[in-house]
Amino acid sequence: MLLENILGGEMYLASEVKSVIKVASTTKVYRLSYRGLPPSPGQFFMVWIPRAGEIPLSAANYRDGELVLAITKRGKITSYIYDRVQAGDRVYLRGPYGRGFNPPCENERSLLVGGGSGLAPLLFLTEKIRDRGGRCDALLGFESKGKAFFLEEFEALCDKLFITTEDGSIGFKGIIPDALKQILQEQNYDVIYLCGPEPMMARIINSVQRIGLRLEASLERYMRCGVGVCGTCILDPLGLRVCRDGPVFPLEVLLKIEGLGRWWRSFDSRKIPI
Ligand SMILES: Cc1cc2nc3c(=O)[nH]c(=O)nc-3n(C[C@H](O)[C@H](O)[C@H](O)COP(=O)(O)OP(=O)(O)OC[C@H]3O[C@@H](n4cnc5c(N)ncnc54)[C@H](O)[C@@H]3O)c2cc1C
Repeated sequence: MLLENILGGEMYLASEVKSVIKVASTTKVYRLSYRGLPPSPGQFFMVWIPRAGEIPLSAANYRDGELVLAITKRGKITSYIYDRVQAGDRVYLRGPYGRGFNPPCENERSLLVGGGSGLAPLLFLTEKIRDRGGRCDALLGFESKGKAFFLEEFEALCDKLFITTEDGSIGFKGIIPDALKQILQEQNYDVIYLCGPEPMMARIINSVQRIGLRLEASLERYMRCGVGVCGTCILDPLGLRVCRDGPVFPLEVLLKIEGLGRWWRSFDSRKIPI
């Protein structure tokens, strides 16, 4: 069923929640029926939950009419979804939107690096790399073992899986940028794909610049329309829109973003610290 949206011609696609599985202390995986355009890794949907609101969410996988989302409880809308949305419920989707990751070339070795809700697009990308016969490793970071998810999925798809937790409950004790520094001393990669908290990504972007690796990162911003009209997600001083020109950007662009890892703009354009 299609519902006409007020954004002139943009359509919502009604989608039924097929299953909900809790995969970590604050994260659930939602499998949805989906008959729209296939998303590519890094693309996102604007997901509208009646009575709660609308937020951007990345595709964590798509296959045979089923879209997978991984949602981490954060504020008002994600908490509503986490606490109330169940199998059999309907949600409404616009998308897929944005520019996703450019897959590696043949014979290139990739490292996927991420944490938290950043794991959703990275898992989808890992599946695509594997489908094409590519080689990849992953470095995943979490606060603690209780917040970790998708470990088995990444383990099944990657040659090597590196894990860090801030409290040391599994994997290396520490944070992703420190673990990455060590890994890059021992392993060779052609490209790094990043998605996770922006302060972590900003540190990595600065250090990777010095060693000359190719890198792409997916950014999160407040976004209202998702289609490049409202301007909420514009990056200073470039004027690029995260929803339309991103959310995935190459290293050359990321290095020019003012305030990367330090502040975002809110819905009323105020700078708010990340
Ligand atoms: C491209 C993209 C892909 C994302 N993919 C995922 C994912 O796969 N899984 C996941 O768990 N999270 C994902 N997020 C983050 C998710 O959209 C935010 O966590 C969510 O919007 C927060 O809403 P809230 O009401 O729970 O939080 P609150 O902090 O209470 O938000 C307050 C208000 O701000 C808005 N808001 C907050 N953050 C954002 C944001 N980043 N963009 C737009 N509006 C926002 C909401 O409309 C909300 O009403 C993604 C964000 C982006 C930009």
